[in-house]
Amino acid sequence: MQFRFSSIDKLPEPPGRATTRGTIVHRALELLFIRPAAQRTPAALDTDLATALAEYRTHPDWVGLGLDTDDAAAFERECSRLVERYFTMEDPTAVREIGLELRMEAAVGNLSLRGIIDRLELDANGELIVTDYKTGRPPSSNYEQKSLAGVHFYAFLCQEVLGRRPALIRLMYLSSGETIETVPNEQSVRFITTRTAAVWNAVERACVTGDFRPRTSRLCDHCSFQRWCPAFGGDPDQALTEAPAAYAALLDHAWPRDDQVVSVAG
Ligand code: SF4
Repeated sequence: MQFRFSSIDKLPEPPGRATTRGTIVHRALELLFIRPAAQRTPAALDTDLATALAEYRTHPDWVGLGLDTDDAAAFERECSRLVERYFTMEDPTAVREIGLELRMEAAVGNLSLRGIIDRLELDANGELIVTDYKTGRPPSSNYEQKSLAGVHFYAFLCQEVLGRRPALIRLMYLSSGETIETVPNEQSVRFITTRTAAVWNAVERACVTGDFRPRTSRLCDHCSFQRWCPAFGGDPDQALTEAPAAYAALLDHAWPRDDQVVSVAG
């Protein structure tokens, strides 16, 4: 059901604090790695975080959070803690990056799969390593392998676009300082294509029948579309007009128009 709301009806969703924080921290790390290796210092990353924050000040993902001054300061401290932890995890001057925020696209049958790789680098043997920054909590050990299944998608993209499978995929959890690594293999990459084909068949069937079923879980608490979800007594068709209107009202409320801005003199 959520897939219909977000990917088929393409309804806007209010920004979330965690997502916006993640986007800004990713941008700060991208800026750090644009610098020559010797200049990648903690002070440089502070500057890059300030730049990233400034870039997002007028972005709907920031504005829509509606942060007041205290809240904005707390938000910035949360970002600072994440970038500070980064330096306890690796030495960026030793990284041999060959791509940042790489957008890749590959075909599976008549589908195009697209993804963005945070950082692609070479190890000492010239093998590819994919690094993915995570700003959320790391998975518990019970769920670790399950949560890693999706990252083999990056290996699939590299294999299709660059003709080489990465030797390693690293997930850096900046919230805890943990790094989880997985070695992709032929089977894990092949699984991406079989699973994609199966999911796409299910999507096509649902589009024909209109049968997009809700599947409730703990994640419903974080779902922007809950009020229109049949599992919660809502009407999905009403979301088509109500969700864009709610989003526009949110931005209008959080982002004062020029005539609402009060200037304080003296
Ligand atoms: S509220 Fe739950 S079941 Fe309904 S669309 Fe959202 S995630 Fe799916």
